[in-house]
Formats: sequence, structure tokens, C-alpha cells
Amino acid sequence: MVKQIPLRQRIRKALVIIAFLSFPLTMNYLSPYVIIDGASQGIINGSLVMFGLMFLSSLFLGRLWCGWVCPAGGLQEMLEPLNRTVLNGKRVDWVKWLVWIPWIFMIFWLALQAGGYHSINLFLDTQNGISVAGAADRPIEIAYIIYYGVVALIFGVTVWLGKRGFCHTLCWMAPFMMIGLWLRNRLGWPSLRLQADSKVCTDCKTCTRGCPMSLDVNAMVQAQNMRHLECILCGTCVDNCAARAIGYTFSSEKK
Ligand code: SF4
Ligand code: SF4
Repeated sequence: MVKQIPLRQRIRKALVIIAFLSFPLTMNYLSPYVIIDGASQGIINGSLVMFGLMFLSSLFLGRLWCGWVCPAGGLQEMLEPLNRTVLNGKRVDWVKWLVWIPWIFMIFWLALQAGGYHSINLFLDTQNGISVAGAADRPIEIAYIIYYGVVALIFGVTVWLGKRGFCHTLCWMAPFMMIGLWLRNRLGWPSLRLQADSKVCTDCKTCTRGCPMSLDVNAMVQAQNMRHLECILCGTCVDNCAARAIGYTFSSEKK
């Protein structure tokens, strides 16, 4: 008999799939290009605001965005049956910083060249707020080429590498939240996090097998240390643990 996915995980998967289906509307608010375009003209834009909100939310909600509402996360979870390879984080996680650090420096440099930010257009590079749409200076074909290019990139990397391969290697959004998480972990204020009780763990390793981010969750439970910058708080480990050894908590970490 096929085992039903726990209700909370069905809701979560539905949310990330809806986020992916909405990507033609939302793409330019998550775009690594729109933030560059805005910086070069000194315009505070939708991408800049979204990335800022991701950083701020991570201070209290960790990477809940990644686990629950990211369009790229939705596409990757739909693709998981095509390649369930478990990624070795030590070998691949550094790649995204190679992309992110020069990109951030370029944005700062362009904003400086433009004399700083002096206007706001949250709908920059959209048509009436919609991302995949035609405009006077940009035919709709171009918008579709960009959209399918981004989808092909996420698709290709994930099918090539395995579980959430794009999150591990190329995502330009993850570092904003990882920096927020790192800060939270250093300063230890109350926030959403996982907690584990190694005493009730039966070592079945269901948590490790199910983790979409390929984390060794069982080892984290044994160490009673659930802090991991690649944990997206999806709750798959929480909902599949028959021994209830893992749970969500909103608290500061017990030392
Ligand atoms: S790492 Fe990036 S692509 Fe993956 S879920 Fe988070 S924001 Fe989305
Ligand atoms: S450790 Fe648990 S909550 Fe974190 S990514 Fe893995 S399955 Fe999701």
C-alpha cells in the first residue's frame, strides 16, 4: 500500500507548487537582473525589497521561505522523482557563494555609480506588475525567452545534480537568508527552529532519507544540534518521525 504523505507536508507541497505556477507573475520580484537594472538607475525595485524581506524574515523564521513558498523550490520538489541523488553539501554548497559575492559587489558598485538610490519603482521591469508580459520597449517573446531560460536553468541543474540541486549551488536568494540565520545563531534571539530529543530517537534514519536538502538529520538529532544553514524548515523530518523526536519550536536556543 502506498503511504500517504502527512497532511502538513501535503499543504506545504501544494504551496510550493502554487508558488511555481505563479512564477510568470512573480519572476521579476525575485530576479537577479532587475536588482542590477534598478541599482544602475538608482531605483529601489521589487527584487531589492524582496531580497531585503528574505533577509529580515530569516532573522526570526529561518529559511521558511525556501521550504514553504519558493517557486524554484516547488519546481525542484516536483522534479525529485527524476533524480533523488543525495547531495554532499561539503562538495557543492560553496558554489553559490562564488556567484553571489561578485553579484552583490556589482550591485553596490552600480548603485554607487548612480549616486545611490533616489527613487522607488517596485514594478520596475514588469508590465502593470506582471513579469511575463509584453511592453512598449520589450515584446512578449523576450519575456517568454527569459522565463523559460530561468525554468530551464533550475530544471537542468536539479535533474543533473539531484535533490534541490539548484538550492545548493546556484540560488542567489539563499545567501541572504543564510546570513540572517548565521546572525541569529550567533546572537541567539527567539526564532522558529527545530528541536530534537535524542533520547527518544530510534535511529531509524527516516529523517535523513526524507530530507529534501540531503542533510544528515539523524546525526543532527544525535548531537541535539539542529542548526544548519541549509535547513529550510520544511518539516519533512518533523512529520515523518514516528518517535516524535523532532519538533518545531519558536524559542531561543537552549545552550
Ligand atoms: S535556496 Fe533558493 S531556490 Fe531554493 S528554496 Fe531557497 S530561495 Fe528557493
Ligand atoms: S532538516 Fe528537516 S526541516 Fe530541515 S530541511 Fe531537512 S527535512 Fe526539512
